[in-house]
Amino acid sequence: MPRLGSWIESHPEGIYVRPADAWIDPSRPKAKAMVTHGHSDHARGGHQAVLATPETLAIMECRYGPQSGGQGIGYGENIRVGEVDVSFVPAGHVLGSAQIVLEHKGEKAVVSGDYKRRPDPTCPCFVPVPCDIFITEATFGLPVFRHPDTGSEIDRLLHRLHADPSRCILVGAYALGKAQRIITELRARGHHDPIYFHGAIERLNHLYQDFGVDLGELRHTGGATKQEMAGHIVIAPPGALNDRWSRRLPDPVTAMASGWMRIRQRARQRNVELPLIISDHADWDELTMTIRELSPTEVWITHGREEALKHWCMTHQIKACELNLVGYEDEDD
Ligand SMILES: [Zn+2]
Repeated sequence: MPRLGSWIESHPEGIYVRPADAWIDPSRPKAKAMVTHGHSDHARGGHQAVLATPETLAIMECRYGPQSGGQGIGYGENIRVGEVDVSFVPAGHVLGSAQIVLEHKGEKAVVSGDYKRRPDPTCPCFVPVPCDIFITEATFGLPVFRHPDTGSEIDRLLHRLHADPSRCILVGAYALGKAQRIITELRARGHHDPIYFHGAIERLNHLYQDFGVDLGELRHTGGATKQEMAGHIVIAPPGALNDRWSRRLPDPVTAMASGWMRIRQRARQRNVELPLIISDHADWDELTMTIRELSPTEVWITHGREEALKHWCMTHQIKACELNLVGYEDEDD
């Protein structure tokens, strides 16, 4: 009996599926790549052939220009790649994000990419697929990481906004996914005022709108006066928070939406006055809940704090190992 998953190999530059002769989220250009989602640490440009959801392909084109050899695969569609049956199912992480389900000779493996379990108005919810091998991320793989309810974090933001209408709230949020999610979460909480945005997120806002995500009324900060922006929310990439650019804003309260805001020191490093713990990754409870639910024989753990989750698996009689992939960073936290 061959070792479980002996047809899937872990290399520093990505996961190689031998009977498909294809790489998953490789960090270097390859002849054939399957891409879980559009964050730059997973989706690199320059592959000869790319298999991804139509949304992810559109995000890659938006970021890297036209990608020859892109093949769109919708959620739930089944295709054969070499000797492997492949399907993409929602991961609930960002627009177009997918888990890649691989079946070969009666063995099923799920590569989760990045994922979360709580609802996100910009993408369909994570679909649990029971499997033999579950390859999971562990960005927040420590029991200290328990993300609070998203609605209550959004309420804190709105409360602060209404407390002083002469100021604006500048929210740092990653350009792909987090920025659009914050906007839609605000809309879901009844905030229908115009929301201002930094130019760096404009193209991705349009892309989300093209795929039917309703962002409400948005305005570019360029050309707006301080007076106009007072009492409003401004969304910008995290790098802009302490940038000269922010001087054009009316006495901004600096906020940041990230799972890392659980760590006070991280908030202090960025001079964040209003830390909002809103993450696009599974927290500790979601990671362990997911593993229980899928009940895999083996769990392979990638980028993040692997050790604690590995230990948790062992104590629950599940074989677990760490994969040493390089190049995964938290563009998306
Ligand atoms: Zn991601």
